[in-house]
Amino acid sequence: MYHKINQSIIDQLKTIVEARNILTERDELLDYSHDEYSLDDISSYPDVVVKPPDAEAVSKIVQLCNQENIPLTARGGGTGLCGACVPVFGGVVMTFENMHQILEIDTHNLTATVESGLTLMDFYPAIEEKGLFFPPHPGDETATIGGVIATNAGGARAVKYGVIRNFVTGIEVVLPTGEIVNLGGKFVKNSTGYSLMHLMIGSEGTLGIITKATISLMAPPKELMTLVVPYDNLHDAISTVPAIIEKKILPMAVEFLELETAILSGKHLNKTWPCTQGSAHLMIIVDGTSEDEVMSLAETISEVCLDHNALEVFAADTRSKQRDILDIRSSIYEAMRPYMLEILDITVPRSQIAHFVDSVNAVAEKSDMWLPTYGHAADGNVHTHLMRYRWQNDEWHEIENWDEKYQTVRKELHDLGKKYQGICSGEHGIGIVKKEYLKSFLEPQQIELMRGIKKVFDPGAILNPGKIFD
Ligand SMILES: Cc1cc2nc3c(=O)[nH]c(=O)nc-3n(C[C@H](O)[C@H](O)[C@H](O)COP(=O)(O)OP(=O)(O)OC[C@H]3O[C@@H](n4cnc5c(N)ncnc54)[C@H](O)[C@@H]3O)c2cc1C
Repeated sequence: MYHKINQSIIDQLKTIVEARNILTERDELLDYSHDEYSLDDISSYPDVVVKPPDAEAVSKIVQLCNQENIPLTARGGGTGLCGACVPVFGGVVMTFENMHQILEIDTHNLTATVESGLTLMDFYPAIEEKGLFFPPHPGDETATIGGVIATNAGGARAVKYGVIRNFVTGIEVVLPTGEIVNLGGKFVKNSTGYSLMHLMIGSEGTLGIITKATISLMAPPKELMTLVVPYDNLHDAISTVPAIIEKKILPMAVEFLELETAILSGKHLNKTWPCTQGSAHLMIIVDGTSEDEVMSLAETISEVCLDHNALEVFAADTRSKQRDILDIRSSIYEAMRPYMLEILDITVPRSQIAHFVDSVNAVAEKSDMWLPTYGHAADGNVHTHLMRYRWQNDEWHEIENWDEKYQTVRKELHDLGKKYQGICSGEHGIGIVKKEYLKSFLEPQQIELMRGIKKVFDPGAILNPGKIFD
């Protein structure tokens, strides 16, 4: 059992960080008791929130927690969708609100070194100003660098450029015992022993606290074009994607969504989705080094789409139209959130997406639940919303007996993920809410190895306990 925080611990924390960076009042702790997972039933209050100014302070706090057997949970922007930053056992929540500096943008090595509390919202413009580009784009820009590394976040552009893991070259980490280590660096290649850095990436704050990161950057694409392609059904839309890839074209993003979902999100933002034909749409972003290259790619993609029963191809050629389309796609979650139970991120091989989504729709019909499904078509990452309400005729209607159906439907969808050779999380992580599915997607030996690794790093189990596995 963990020890409770008492006045003596608070006093010791006050010798490490200024008193104003220690929160203990219940109303101040509320914001740190949950993430963006939509149901309140997993929320849990910390006993104290600390906001260290630097890695040395992080190290001292971790040492204190280790010595006193107090659980410590790192928190970034709190935009996670699986309860990963929720302090299940109370204790200390550490946030990086005071550690958000860009320490260096190195134009010779094309890297940026930043503190872990920097938000994506502040990161993107800072590197754009230097004429550089960071491709990963998880949907909520209030996420922090530490958080996106700890979850190995993905987003729409992952299909061409890869996920966060592909862009981290080095991290500074405070281990659960308080030592500060530097894993990786600015180099591109590294075959020097086990990659502890890659072990940290995606470890959801259970193995170490990331205080600093070096991120590799690239030149931005010179030209972009966004296509919106309507179809009469989702199956035809998704079936087009392997055909595009067979043409050796890898667009920057290929998203599928239903028209009603796009309209709903557009209303939420007061923006208009550019096309109202059909019922299922692909949103395809192509990039290239010249207008001619992008036009030629767009033409080939359009031909493939029309060969696969697309009703037309709408091209958004101005930055503002492209931004509107991306904003509407990125805001679907926000528009649905008050009416939903959960968003899933089951990921299947690309070739299986159409079959998987057909089966999800069959579950929706059989159970009379609304399960709007959209996602990253070209990398197999499918987001299904389990809804409490159905949006029909421009109004929300509560679904009958949703509470009785929820767990059965949730299990059926995960069983389908398994059937189609998938995994239970492609980008959101396991956190609290997907723990129960871990053992059906991973072999027991894999989970045992993970437990062993956790024990080596964190024998006292003080870092983010109760996450990924028990
Ligand atoms: C509208 C919306 C859209 C989204 N779209 C996407 C998407 O397209 N792709 C995607 O991948 N995700 C998406 N997400 C999920 C979310 O943005 C990501 O999981 C993000 O990576 C979490 O970052 P964060 O800073 O908010 O971390 P938090 O939610 O605060 O924490 C997440 C995990 O990281 C750990 N952590 C945080 N900081 C540190 C640190 N410094 N050191 C060690 N561990 C740390 C926490 O302990 C926790 O386990 C979306 C979320 C929302 C709300």
